[in-house]
Amino acid sequence: MYEPLQRRELYLLLARSTQEPVEQAGKYFLSAAAEQLPLNQLAHLGIIDVPFDRTFNPGAVVTRQELVQTAARTAKPALRIHNAPVVTAVPQKYTYQRLTADVHALAAAYPDLISLVEIGQSVEGRAIYALRLGHGTKEIFLDAAIHASEWLTTNLLMKMAEEYARHAQYDRPFGPYHVAEILEEVSLWFMPMLNPDGVTLVLEGPEAVQNSTFAKQLLQQANENSFSSWKANIRGVDLNRQFPAFWSRLVNVQPRPAPSHFKGTKPLSEPEAQSLYDFTLQRRPAMVISFHQQGEIIYWYNRQSGARYNRDRQLARQLAALTGYGAGQQLVNGGKYMDWAISELGIPAFIIEVGTVVGDLRQWERIWRQNRYVALEAARLILALE
Ligand SMILES: [Zn+2]
Repeated sequence: MYEPLQRRELYLLLARSTQEPVEQAGKYFLSAAAEQLPLNQLAHLGIIDVPFDRTFNPGAVVTRQELVQTAARTAKPALRIHNAPVVTAVPQKYTYQRLTADVHALAAAYPDLISLVEIGQSVEGRAIYALRLGHGTKEIFLDAAIHASEWLTTNLLMKMAEEYARHAQYDRPFGPYHVAEILEEVSLWFMPMLNPDGVTLVLEGPEAVQNSTFAKQLLQQANENSFSSWKANIRGVDLNRQFPAFWSRLVNVQPRPAPSHFKGTKPLSEPEAQSLYDFTLQRRPAMVISFHQQGEIIYWYNRQSGARYNRDRQLARQLAALTGYGAGQQLVNGGKYMDWAISELGIPAFIIEVGTVVGDLRQWERIWRQNRYVALEAARLILALE
């Protein structure tokens, strides 16, 4: 009844959507002999997005009509133009370049749900992105990869953002959570990579950053021979020791720039920390959740007392029950973003340490399973506090 769509035509459609030359559009396909492309294969490859309410018979081919229908139903455009949509970007190493492409793709794919903001720039001028998901007046901040070696937390936030957006878009529950309803009352801010220079150093090596000589020097001074456990920004400052909360009392710190644990010469000396600080004061979130590695434990305490102590301990226990993680009380010190959010803003703030090994993609499935509902549960908890 419908005329099958030929491979060449699909290339042309793709090329039109991506505004790339046709030869380029070809790269979105694996080599296959068939001229009529099975729809389920295209969906599997992430080239098209199959709406929740449609299933396609294995082997059904793409026709013009189907493509138009898909176009009408999916977000934008019908064809998911990248061969690696955000969801399939895991489990892979999330480079800054890939992240940049994906945050723009996500914002373009869900224009009614997601807006993209740059909250600042790193030392080397890389953007620090924040994705706002939802329209609610209550805001929750979720941040990742403030420590470079903990780059796997970027995957987690990006996957969360996309899954929540997809379920909200099609008005589907995600686990026990009605995402669309939650997003009417709560806005989730995803900040997937707070330390893009450091992550670039860890994932792509010194040749990928401008300040490579200095970074190599610091590595040598620390008697280390790999950047894989580098946590600091590119100037050797630990961004999660930069916040003005009991900063002067910090112990176990390095006296000078180092791959980790140098708190800087003063709080907020680094642009990455300053950007997060400014943005937090500007938005005044109701809750903050920082993702780190590793230990499968949740930290929540920084000297709060009375009702706030009880509130935050209870919230931590609920997040612990959700993830299966412990809810530790130690780690009282200072300088962390969490410490500052607790002491300065008086809000509940958490560090969730995911996985048992830093930077091991083989743990991805486990980490995702444990943490996929965290932001939705956080939203539920915030709404229940009133
Ligand atoms: Zn960390």
